[in-house]
Amino acid sequence: MRLFECGTLVPGCDWHTRADSDAEVVRRAVEHMRSAHGETLIHENMVDNIKARIVEETKAA
Ligand SMILES: [Zn+2]
Repeated sequence: MRLFECGTLVPGCDWHTRADSDAEVVRRAVEHMRSAHGETLIHENMVDNIKARIVEETKAA
């Protein structure tokens, strides 16, 4: 699973999402940015910032 934690981009936010593909994670993250952080205009830079922070989730025991 691919994991994005909003707190890596917006300090203090504890929202996160996980999905099978980076594209789906980015889609959900952009939605969250719009609804939670008032980002009505999503720049390409924002998508790059999100992509750069997606990590492969390792299952902890
Ligand atoms: Zn957030």
